[in-house]
Amino acid sequence: MEITSEDPGLVARVAGLTKSYGSGSTAVTALDNVSVGIRKSEFTAIMGPSGSGKSTLMHIMAGLDSVTSGRVWIGSTDITGLDDTELTMIRRRRVGFVFQSFNLVPTLDIRGNIMLPFELDGRSPSDDDRRWIDELVASLGLAPRMSHRPHELSGGQQQRVAIARALGSRPDLVFADEPTGNLDSRTSREVLSLLATASSSYGQSIAMVTHDPIAASYADRIIFLADGKVIEDRGRSTASDISQYMLGMEQVA
Ligand code: ADP
Ligand code: MG
Repeated sequence: MEITSEDPGLVARVAGLTKSYGSGSTAVTALDNVSVGIRKSEFTAIMGPSGSGKSTLMHIMAGLDSVTSGRVWIGSTDITGLDDTELTMIRRRRVGFVFQSFNLVPTLDIRGNIMLPFELDGRSPSDDDRRWIDELVASLGLAPRMSHRPHELSGGQQQRVAIARALGSRPDLVFADEPTGNLDSRTSREVLSLLATASSSYGQSIAMVTHDPIAASYADRIIFLADGKVIEDRGRSTASDISQYMLGMEQVA
């Protein structure tokens, strides 16, 4: 896909992105000249075998890691040359995260966890923000849990809190790294449906890293990585088509 610096349909993009770790004979090229954009209001899955560069791509797009060469934009902001303070600001204002391990703050109750992005950004939620968060909390079934601590909730409930936290400030883009990796299959389906609904009904842009074909089948679009390169970029597919494709990849590799 061609990447231009002004494409309003893309919420994040990288162009000519290469990332190497280490140097000399021990250098590892995690990403090799990748150019790809994440489309606004879509639910995109980033798939590939372990070690293919999925997390590295996500971290760089989210401003959590630096590039070796190439450029990275969030919206129309080129974040490639920003310093840590500027990147922190961008992350707080424009990006939300959902992790495999939930990453809730154990000492805060559920309300405190959900409001944390506002706290960290030093702004109080508007009436409109509060209405949106109340709606999220209600639709996620978290209303009776607001004064509980994370350890009092099941894994699925904790991940719903993490999703409410990520969606609450309506960031430009939500990154999810294996969000169902620690959940049973029924709870996984609930969490995936929630992410899909956030994008189809509310226009939330979401990029989800996964190696699970069932998880990827909930996405509007699937980008496949292998050995640090994008090898396939396709629309919604069934879990069985995705599995077939991945099996084929392994045989070629
Ligand atoms: P994935 O998420 O697809 O499993 P990663 O992006 O984590 O892949 O890793 C891609 C490659 O980069 C792997 O070979 C991995 O070992 C290497 N890598 C990732 N992070 C580091 C690091 N901090 N130092 C050295 N090598 C790394
Ligand atoms: Mg990973």
